[in-house]
Amino acid sequence: MSGTLFIVATPIGNLADLSRRALETLQQADVIVCENNRVSSVLLRAYEIKKPLVGLFEHASTERLANLTEQLLAGKNLAYISDAGTPGVSDPGGKLVATALEQGIKVSPIPGPSAMAAAISICGFPMHEFSFVGFVPKKKGRETFFKELAERASASIFYESKYRMDKTLEALAKHLAPERLLLVARELTKMHETLYRGTVAQVTEQIHQTSSKGEFVIVVAPAGFGYTV
Ligand code: SAM
Repeated sequence: MSGTLFIVATPIGNLADLSRRALETLQQADVIVCENNRVSSVLLRAYEIKKPLVGLFEHASTERLANLTEQLLAGKNLAYISDAGTPGVSDPGGKLVATALEQGIKVSPIPGPSAMAAAISICGFPMHEFSFVGFVPKKKGRETFFKELAERASASIFYESKYRMDKTLEALAKHLAPERLLLVARELTKMHETLYRGTVAQVTEQIHQTSSKGEFVIVVAPAGFGYTV
């Protein structure tokens, strides 16, 4: 009988956020497959998990994928972890899942942290409908990305890399209606976790008083939403 491919969410900063089930799954897996050996070694060392660790980079070769599915077909249980958070959310993992499914292998999620879900949980905006639009494009498509964001009436959520937050704030100021509210969540669950709330102008001022370095999730409120407290 084939083994199971477990897709395991890992902490987005605070190592204590690994769930008990995630820990047990990693401890019991025959092989742990990861996005990056160096990054995942930190987590595995902290929890004293000693298992064969196989790196599967975003553009993994077909042979590497085939080798992993062979192990699953032979009955081994594999656990896949990305660098942080939930695999498949702006992270690799999808190709391995698709390859396993094509072979009839059971795939099971071990849910847990995600920067997107963490930001949604504390934004306070009506989020019954929202668009998650991944990372801001670096060059091509950037203008369209912000235009579409501004035109969307429902909430939007996106990720920004630590190097481009200042540029993104400038683009938001150019495209968004001045009264549109945002939550900018920086370094969630880490020592320098900071939440900036308000219009683009207010958030920009707060960020410039602190720091625009770190990892960011941005939630744009639905058009017309304002806090009533
Ligand atoms: N799979 C991850 C998840 O479930 O959130 C996302 C991986 S994506 C490659 C990395 C981006 O997620 C970062 O550039 C940042 O925008 C966001 N991110 C990850 N950890 C974060 C944190 N602790 N605080 C704020 N944003 C974070």
